[in-house]
Amino acid sequence: MLRIAVIYPELLGTYGDGGNGLVLRERALRRGFEATLVSVSIEESLPDAEIYLLGGGEDGPQRRATDALRTDGTLAQRLDDGATLFAVCAGLQIIGQSFAVEGGDTYPGLGLTALETVRGASRRVGELLVDVDGNDLVGFENHGGHTISHGANPLGVVRRGYGNDGEVDGIHEGGLLGTYAHGPVLAMNPWLADRLLARALGRELEPLATVADRLHTERVRVVRQMSRVP
Ligand code: GLN
Repeated sequence: MLRIAVIYPELLGTYGDGGNGLVLRERALRRGFEATLVSVSIEESLPDAEIYLLGGGEDGPQRRATDALRTDGTLAQRLDDGATLFAVCAGLQIIGQSFAVEGGDTYPGLGLTALETVRGASRRVGELLVDVDGNDLVGFENHGGHTISHGANPLGVVRRGYGNDGEVDGIHEGGLLGTYAHGPVLAMNPWLADRLLARALGRELEPLATVADRLHTERVRVVRQMSRVP
């Protein structure tokens, strides 16, 4: 049984990032795997799961979620045990060493990776296109944070938009994956959903020909045209 947990969607759910959980469950079910999806509220302890999802959020809820996750402690433990964590935007900032909020105050993150988020010169809003080992990742970014990698391995190279720092986007270290892209990003990039599933299930997956897979090709074409990306 594949257990998927969406963490604190009432705090970290901007732009429908909780939809990433629905996409993962659906793509697992369509291939005949048993999968459950739970939404965990800040009042609850994190359950054991194979895939955890962190979404985007405003600065205040982001701080609350970070404090609660630190107190809970499950996430770091489960990652050590081999679970997969996929984090979007505020989620990506939360898993790093520290993040700065509007006004410049800095708060400790969960320290699961070396990432450090400082305040950027301006807010970054718009389409994000990232090359992930030759795969196109498309999504929408809206954040004031500028994320310094400090040697952490990024998810990919930015072709349009800003991502972490204008050069690279996200994180990919073992079971820790993240991006600045909203969408929900796994609905817009089903190939990435399948990567997470393949990791969590420990096996290669047959391709699926869904409308989402077709729309991904279409969207990449449009964003490339917008940006004149070759
Ligand atoms: N609060 C963070 C920032 O503005 C993250 C925003 C988001 O998740 N969209 O940088």
